[in-house]
Amino acid sequence: MRLRVLGCYGAEALGYKSAAFLINDLLLVDAGNINSLSGADEISGIRHLILSHAHLDHIKGLPFLAEQLAEGGKGLEVFGTEETLSSLRQHIFNGSIWPDLSKLPTPQNPAIRYMKMLEGVPVAMSRLSVKAVPVNHTVPTVGFVISDDGSSILYSGDTWTTDRIWEEANNTVNLKGLMIEVSYPNRLKERAVITRHLTPLLLTEELRKIDLKNGMMIFIYHLKPPFVDEIKREICELKMDNLVLLEEGDVFEV
Ligand SMILES: [Zn+2]
Ligand SMILES: [Zn+2]
Repeated sequence: MRLRVLGCYGAEALGYKSAAFLINDLLLVDAGNINSLSGADEISGIRHLILSHAHLDHIKGLPFLAEQLAEGGKGLEVFGTEETLSSLRQHIFNGSIWPDLSKLPTPQNPAIRYMKMLEGVPVAMSRLSVKAVPVNHTVPTVGFVISDDGSSILYSGDTWTTDRIWEEANNTVNLKGLMIEVSYPNRLKERAVITRHLTPLLLTEELRKIDLKNGMMIFIYHLKPPFVDEIKREICELKMDNLVLLEEGDVFEV
């Protein structure tokens, strides 16, 4: 499975793009940034978007991506839980903030097709299988287990301490990579609790719940831009060989 990082931070600032990851060139995992895609060919290859939740740093690129795909005669399948899709309908594509792209350019060929996901039920997308698993954030949020014939990757979504997705990790054969959020440095643990995010120390507590197999990579993302240097220092101090801090432009075969 090919993982490409389009953006990997928990907000946007100069030099930092928010969360968006491309799997096998056709499945977009969150849509915080689409400006790293170069040209119409790359954009037109995207068939499906899976959204962990409706926070702005995960959906910001969606209105513009869907419009571009619609101009090429293709729409975008937008997968999410009922709560996430309902937030998009009510608060973004409501005719006030942005047009209702589930009816435009035409109701027969809309830019967006909403596809409801049920927690724990795998959904086939092209040659991939994706399962949504609830995590622990301030709004209803899911992580994902994404699998192809040979391997699986787990994406945590935004989360504070949680259990069910790690149980899912332990029950997934061929799990090769874990993408886990870390948003705040250790000294801001209180803020992490209030906003339901992880710090490096909380990450180590979560990792104890996982049966980490040899060669399994742990990809860290969602650092909040004002604290990047501090968080990176604290992650390095964990001295774990298999931890990778993701950067825009990274490509991994897992
Ligand atoms: Zn976020
Ligand atoms: Zn969030």
